[in-house]
Amino acid sequence: MSSLLSRAFAVRLLAAAALAAPMILPAPPPAFAQARNISLVRDAEIEALVREYARPVLEAAGLGRSGIEIVLVNDPSFNAFVTGRRIFINTGTLLMSQTPNEVIGVLAHEAGHIAGGHQQRLREQLARAQTLAVVATVLGVGAAVAGSASGARGLGQSAAGIFTGGMEAARRSVLSYQRTEEATADRSAITYLERTGQSAKGMLATFERLADSMTLAGVRVDPYQLSHPVPRERIANLETLARASRHFDRKDPPALQQRHDMVRAKIAAFTQGHAAAGRLFRDNPGGVPAIYADAIGTFLSGNARAAVSKIDTLVRAAPKNPYFHEMRGEILMKAGRPAEAATSFATAMRLDPHRSGIIQIGYGQALMATGKQEDLRKAVNELQAGLSRDREYAAGYRYLAQAYGQLGDVPQAELATADGHFYSGNYRDAKIFAARAQQKMPNGSPGWLRAQDIINYRPVGR
Ligand SMILES: [Zn+2]
Repeated sequence: MSSLLSRAFAVRLLAAAALAAPMILPAPPPAFAQARNISLVRDAEIEALVREYARPVLEAAGLGRSGIEIVLVNDPSFNAFVTGRRIFINTGTLLMSQTPNEVIGVLAHEAGHIAGGHQQRLREQLARAQTLAVVATVLGVGAAVAGSASGARGLGQSAAGIFTGGMEAARRSVLSYQRTEEATADRSAITYLERTGQSAKGMLATFERLADSMTLAGVRVDPYQLSHPVPRERIANLETLARASRHFDRKDPPALQQRHDMVRAKIAAFTQGHAAAGRLFRDNPGGVPAIYADAIGTFLSGNARAAVSKIDTLVRAAPKNPYFHEMRGEILMKAGRPAEAATSFATAMRLDPHRSGIIQIGYGQALMATGKQEDLRKAVNELQAGLSRDREYAAGYRYLAQAYGQLGDVPQAELATADGHFYSGNYRDAKIFAARAQQKMPNGSPGWLRAQDIINYRPVGR
C-alpha cells in the first residue's frame, strides 16, 4: 500500500527510516529495521477537520491552552487514545463514523480522560501491572506508542495475549480500575458537549456499536474496545445523560457533514481502493464526496490525465476549497507537469486558512521538480518555511535535502537529511549525517549548532 501513498496522504513510519538519502549522497546504513512502530498520516485537509472537531470540546474541558496535539494514525481499526498531550485517532475511526458528531463524541470522551488526569494515574496503575503483554493487550496500540516513546521497543508485538493466571489477575485489576475512569470520562464528555451546544448522540451511537460488535462472535475486536470496556450498564447511563440534553437531536451543520464525507472519501480511496471508496457513496454517486473519491481513486490507479479532469469538475464547483487545488497539484506532479502543479499548490496555499506547512512543502516540491535554477532557490525557501510551520514533517526534509543537493550545497543537504532521520525517530543515522554536515560548516554557525543539537540528543528513557 505504501507505494500508493502520495505526499497529500504521506505516511511517516516512526523510526522505520522512511527517509531516503538524496541522490548525491551515499546511502545511509540500514536503520532500525526491527523497530515496531505505528505509521502516522500527514494530510492538511484531515488534520484541519479533526482539529476543528476537537477545539470546542478541548476548550470546554479547560484544555484550550494546553497545546494538545491531534495525531492521525494510519490504521483501519477503530481507535482513539491519549498519551501525554497527544490525542491519537485512527483513520479507521473517521471512516467508520457516519457523522462529525460521532467523532466529536469520541474526542470529548478522550478530553475527559486528559482533564481527569487519567493518563497519569493509568501509568501508575500499569506500572503495578508490570507485565508488558498485559499492558499492551489492555491498551491496544496505545501501549505500543507509550512503549516506543519510552524506549521499550517491540512492546506491541510481544502482546500475544497469552494469559497465565497471574497475568489474568493483573488484567482484571486494570480493567476494574478502567471502568471507573470510563464512567468519569463519559460524564465529563457529556458536560463538554452540553457546554458547546452539541449532542451526545454520536458518542452514544459509537459506544453502542462497540458494545454490539463485542457480543457478536467472530467479529474483529478493535483496539478501542479493549481499552474502553462498554458494559450494558455503562451504555444505559450514557443514554440517560445524553437524552436529558435539549441538544440531543441537534444535527451537524450540512457544510461540516460534507467536509466529513470528503475526508472519508479521501481515506477510503487511499487505504481501501477506488472501488471501495465508490461504494461508500453509492447512495449519492453524483455528489461532491463521490466525485472526490473517484478523482483520487483514478489518480492512484495511475490515470493522471482522467484524474485532472475529474478534480477540475470539483475546482469549478468550489473554487475556494484549498484541498481541491492541493489535490490537483498532487495529480499534476504525477502527470509530470510540475510547473502547473506549482501554480495549483500556490493557489491552495493562498486559500488555506490554517496555513498548513504540508501544502507549502508541496509547493516547494513542485518548484524543485521544474528543474529551473531560479525555481530551486525558491523551492529551498518554501520548503524551509513549510518546515518551520511543521517541524516534525519528516518527509519534508527529504525534499529539502534534494533541493540543496541540486544546488550543490552538500553540508545543508546532509543537515536536512539528518533532520529527516531525527524526526523519523532514527537517531543513529541522524547523528551520522549531522556529524558529516558539521565538519563542513563554520564553527558556531546556525547549521553547525543544529547539527550539534542532534549529535547531543539523548532519547528519553534510554
Ligand atoms: Zn475511555
